[in-house]
This record gives sequence, structure tokens and C-alpha cells, in this order.
Amino acid sequence: MDPVNDNDRPVDPPKACSICGKPATVRYKPFCSKRCADVDLNRWLKGTYAIPAVEDPDEDVSDLPRD
Ligand SMILES: [Zn+2]
Repeated sequence: MDPVNDNDRPVDPPKACSICGKPATVRYKPFCSKRCADVDLNRWLKGTYAIPAVEDPDEDVSDLPRD
């Protein structure tokens, strides 16, 4: 029960890594390791690049009259 290694223990309640299905660890939850966390991060970044961040002009309130 060394608190220094607490981050390496599986999360409680147990949760499967969303990348590889291994038990997630406290340190990298919801992933089991930095590797899986990086995989997810890369997926997320690519997904962000694939989706243009265009705001709906109809939602722009800058045209409202201001006093
Ligand atoms: Zn994993």
C-alpha cells in the first residue's frame, strides 16, 4: 500500500481502457497507459482538424444595436 504508486493502480471501480480494453489506471484514466492516452489524443486532434470550426453567423450578436 505505497501511496507513491497509487497512480499506477487500476481505477476503482474497474474501467476498461477505451483504446485497448485493458484495465484503466488512475494515472492515465480512462486509459491504461500513456501510449493509449496518446492514441486517443491523436484521434481527437485529427477529428478536430477534419471538422472546420465555423461559427453560425446567425448566432453572431455583434450586429445588434448598441448604445
Ligand atoms: Zn489501453
